Amino acid sequence: MNPQRLVLASNNAKKLGELTALLSPLGIQLVPQRELGVAECDEPHCTFVENALAKARHAAIMTGLPALADDSGLCVDALLGAPGVHSARYADEPKSDERNNQKLLDALQNEDNRNARFICVIVLARHAADPQPIIAEGEWRGEILRAPRGGGGFGYDPIFLDKESNLASAELPPEVKNRKSHRGLAMRALIEKLQAS
Ligand code: IMP
Repeated sequence: MNPQRLVLASNNAKKLGELTALLSPLGIQLVPQRELGVAECDEPHCTFVENALAKARHAAIMTGLPALADDSGLCVDALLGAPGVHSARYADEPKSDERNNQKLLDALQNEDNRNARFICVIVLARHAADPQPIIAEGEWRGEILRAPRGGGGFGYDPIFLDKESNLASAELPPEVKNRKSHRGLAMRALIEKLQAS
């Protein structure tokens, strides 16, 4: 199977950029679902994999194209995995990276265990009723900083420390983040599975 055009079940421009950088060398074009008139679907589940499957299936049903969806978030050990699937709206509406980061810093104010991991699950559904979608997962372990650093990336990047480089995720050049990140790892695992299928 060598899909040339995939609908991406997300409208996040930075995610589109990161995924396009990984997939365009394979001749795969990603079209954000909004460009095809597809509205975002609900993400009602408590696991990343269930939400990613729901998003991919919805985009495939609405477009008739193979669909790629990811669900990702930050899981903090001292908070029993929170904010997890609620990462995007941890500090409620309106969605705000700054308020999410501040809420997390406040929650960990007196906490010495700063261990956390970004998780990404990517699903490729070849069609709406695909009984065996390709599923890949990536994990990036790090620590939550005590104050934001750096100006790149998005979401929790300013408060997530990559221990190997001792830099915040928001301080890493995009190509370095792509190499280390949960999304990059999941994407490369997906590509390996796709090539073997
Ligand atoms: P999703 O769009 O439902 O996958 O939402 C994931 C949320 O997790 C985002 O809105 C961010 O808050 C957070 N997140 C996921 N990946 C990253 C990342 O690479 N850097 C920073 N935050 C991330």
